[in-house]
Amino acid sequence: MRPSMSLIRSASRVARRTYSTESVPQRKVAVLGAGGGIGQPLALLMKLNPLVSHLSLYDIAGTPGVAADVSHINTRSEVKGYAGEEHLAAALEGCDVVIIPAGVPRKPGMTRDDLFNINAGIVKSLTTAIAKYCPHAIINMISNPVNSIVPIASEVLKKAGVYDEKKLFGVTTLDVVRAKTFYAGKAGVPVAEVNVPVVGGHAGVTILPLFSQATPKANLSNDYIEALTKRTQDGGTEVVEAKAGKGSATLSMAYAGALFADACLKGLNGVPDVVECSFVQSSITELPFFASKVRLGKNGVEEVLDLGPLSDYEKEGLEKLKPELKSSIEKGIKFANQS
Ligand code: NAD
Repeated sequence: MRPSMSLIRSASRVARRTYSTESVPQRKVAVLGAGGGIGQPLALLMKLNPLVSHLSLYDIAGTPGVAADVSHINTRSEVKGYAGEEHLAAALEGCDVVIIPAGVPRKPGMTRDDLFNINAGIVKSLTTAIAKYCPHAIINMISNPVNSIVPIASEVLKKAGVYDEKKLFGVTTLDVVRAKTFYAGKAGVPVAEVNVPVVGGHAGVTILPLFSQATPKANLSNDYIEALTKRTQDGGTEVVEAKAGKGSATLSMAYAGALFADACLKGLNGVPDVVECSFVQSSITELPFFASKVRLGKNGVEEVLDLGPLSDYEKEGLEKLKPELKSSIEKGIKFANQS
């Protein structure tokens, strides 16, 4: 089954199982950066999600076309497109979930941190607007560098007096999607059955897949595990290089973003036991933000789950990632408080 179809079918199944069609709650979802490489396919996938009643597509330009196009699809949600900052308030008002893929992507040779100067400012201004127009919305932050962008958003929301740590998420789902795909290939198990937690952050060595906890179990050698870990950490760069200057992952990211937003909506709607990995405010390590498994509920984060048993290789990886993740977090906090 194609991934997007499986997402839609599982969302429909959950909707049918959990509520009668009439009682599916009204949910407004906004995509900020909806005209971009991620934004457009993400808009499509959110239009296919039966848990969405209102889909708000915002960008600085180009959104009326995307909105008109997507709006002809005969699914539940009503679609509106908004272009330009003067329409941001209308795009955000009443939102339950705001997904942010606004900003510039990487080119070959760039790290995610190289995007900081441009994307930090974009996300700061979008988060300021969220604080004003939909302060209770769940925020799914896709823009890179996620490790610094999420701390920036938390500071902006704190300053506005509306920070709720249960509602701010860095989207690391693509790391999980990649880890599952690569593991299934090496382990020779059906990819649809694979589960692999990915913890830490969302850049290079801060991405730590926990293959020792992967299911279905497979007896992979240490060399295989190291190669899988490296490939998961470099998955984004693999795409950046293959696209040769035309951006970074967009289609797989849209899939991952839609999967995570769907999980947030299920949580909001009271579906039990919705667990996904995400970069959130955390106390499971000494770092103030950390990606791990998170149980999602009616208020966003219901529980941040701990790391579980780690192999020696993973323990080493965890210690190795901490200094880089710490400095990326501090960089975000400093930017938010200086600028
Ligand atoms: P893109 O350049 O194709 O699209 C970005 C869109 O953002 C553009 O349409 C642009 O007009 C819009 N934009 C710029 N400033 C804006 C503003 N102030 N308000 C609203 N929209 C604005 O880039 P892309 O490939 O879609 O990537 C977007 C971001 O997602 C990048 O930062 C990229 O690094 C990141 N990304 C994250 C992950 C992840 O796993 N979290 C994966 C891939 C890419």
